[in-house]
Amino acid sequence: MIKSASILNLLRKNTCILCDKAIIYRRHKTVISGDKQWQEWWIRKKDVLRKVFGYDSFRTGQEEIVDNILLGRDVCGIMPTGAGKSICYQLPALLLPGITIVVSPLISLMIDQVKALNGAGVHAAYINSALTENQITKALYNAMCGRYKIVYVAPERLETNRFLEFVLNADISMITIDEAHCISQWGQDFRPSYLKIVNLIKMLPKRPVVSAFTATATQAVKDDIVCVLGLNNPFIKVTGFDRSNLYFEVRQPNNKDAEVLNYVLSHRDDSGIIYCATRKNVDKVYAMLAKNGIAVTRYHAGLDNDMRKANQEDFIYDEKPVIVATNAFGMGIDKSNVRYVLHYNMPQCIENYYQEAGRAGRDGEPAECILLFSPQDVIINEFLIENKGENNEFTEEERKAVHDNDIRRLKKMRYYCSTKECLREYMLNYFGEYSGKDDCGNCGNCSAVFEEKDVTNTASAIIKTIKECHERFGTSVITGTLRGENKAKLRSYGVDRYSTFGMCRQMSESFIKGVIDKMLLDGYLRETNDMYRLLKLTETSDILISGEEHLIMKWSERKEEFKKEKRTPKSLDADGLML
Ligand code: ADP
Ligand code: ZN
Repeated sequence: MIKSASILNLLRKNTCILCDKAIIYRRHKTVISGDKQWQEWWIRKKDVLRKVFGYDSFRTGQEEIVDNILLGRDVCGIMPTGAGKSICYQLPALLLPGITIVVSPLISLMIDQVKALNGAGVHAAYINSALTENQITKALYNAMCGRYKIVYVAPERLETNRFLEFVLNADISMITIDEAHCISQWGQDFRPSYLKIVNLIKMLPKRPVVSAFTATATQAVKDDIVCVLGLNNPFIKVTGFDRSNLYFEVRQPNNKDAEVLNYVLSHRDDSGIIYCATRKNVDKVYAMLAKNGIAVTRYHAGLDNDMRKANQEDFIYDEKPVIVATNAFGMGIDKSNVRYVLHYNMPQCIENYYQEAGRAGRDGEPAECILLFSPQDVIINEFLIENKGENNEFTEEERKAVHDNDIRRLKKMRYYCSTKECLREYMLNYFGEYSGKDDCGNCGNCSAVFEEKDVTNTASAIIKTIKECHERFGTSVITGTLRGENKAKLRSYGVDRYSTFGMCRQMSESFIKGVIDKMLLDGYLRETNDMYRLLKLTETSDILISGEEHLIMKWSERKEEFKKEKRTPKSLDADGLML
């Protein structure tokens, strides 16, 4: 029998990651007085884990979250895909006396979860648009009779009269919010219907425990989850986002099809996913690989249900170990031996990229995540953002906030493709984690040899041009001006009269654009959030002109290639860089 003193010790280990204080004393008192109940749960939780879910032990973070929920404390769990968030709320849901409501936006995932729970002998149901009105009535009636321990519900159903009638009369022990980042306008998938959860919690006669989970949350999103949902002194658990077995690399090939084909052919025995931004690209890459004898399948929303299901199964059971897909593919897929994830196009944000790339190497063995970038990808994504389709759920103000955040995230994704620093560290920093290491030893940039060059002269020419045009143009016009391009469009803007026109005539377009990207990354410039992406100066721009600071850029060669042949420079630019 576990003594209450040892339980207390265990609890004291739990500290709030925001204020680093031990969890509040009030709760400890509750434990001491409700000691018997807690002891019973403490013993039963391991039993439930084994008997219902079939696992011998908890994974990182799971047990602490379960304990805190059982103590009646709100919880916010930020754990990467595959970390095992479901157990964190399903297990306590079975031990708590009343019903747990799980709000989830993903109907297919909800159906899978309920199926799995029912298969494990747990009574659960879902309320969403996959059911007819009659079926909903029946499910809610059963719920009211206490037949289910867990009820999944889509956010838009929360304020329907029948659902309210049920929750206001039932004994609700916990409300769980899955994909909790949807509550935040800063998140990649803001859903105003999530705000209904806050009203629901307020309406309940007895406030239940509230637990929120997501796979991706930047600091701003995490703050929103806690504040907007009104979590009460929550236990916040962020489990490591780093996936050390994954190798990250960005390539900018001239011919993406050839790059994909070469890669797949040289990894013939491996299973892999190739993500494309559009259905058209999926069909094209799929046909190209099939023509070259690869056992490949495909997945996108344009295929009918049966075909999608059959293709998915072909992939999962390794009948066709390679799949070409849009981002519609992957939710709820738990295939452990995916050895590579190639991105034929740059995704719209780091959140999506990390989630999609993270489907590689779930078995912990080495796997590769390679993004094939082209400037065209930025244009495709901008188009997709501008043409997202009207969402009637949004007010005009919300629509603008979502749009601006989409553009802001796209920018960060673009910077990932241009940074010469550690790619892993870039993404971890994005999610608010800092390893403190300069070199992870397992990404394209860390395995490259860099030459460092001072590009301050080019940078100050860029700044002077932006000043001369009164910050009215974007990267293309600024680059064209510096290169002194003879184009009617440039002449019509009058840039041929600028003092900087043709100042960097001998430099390549991609080099100047590279310097601009570096200046954006380091905050010497900024871009507007509209589709024109005008270049603007910042308070640090002038420091480069005055020479107080120098802009150093890394020029890279892959280590192996570098060893094989040292390039002979064709020509040098004003900063002494190879063109
Ligand atoms: P998430 O929701 O975080 O993406 P899931 O809850 O779907 O992750 O779990 C991912 C996988 O890990 C599932 O196959 C699940 O069965 C498995 N899993 C979860 N917890 C454990 C555990 N304690 N031991 C072993 N496997 C686990
Ligand atoms: Zn690295």
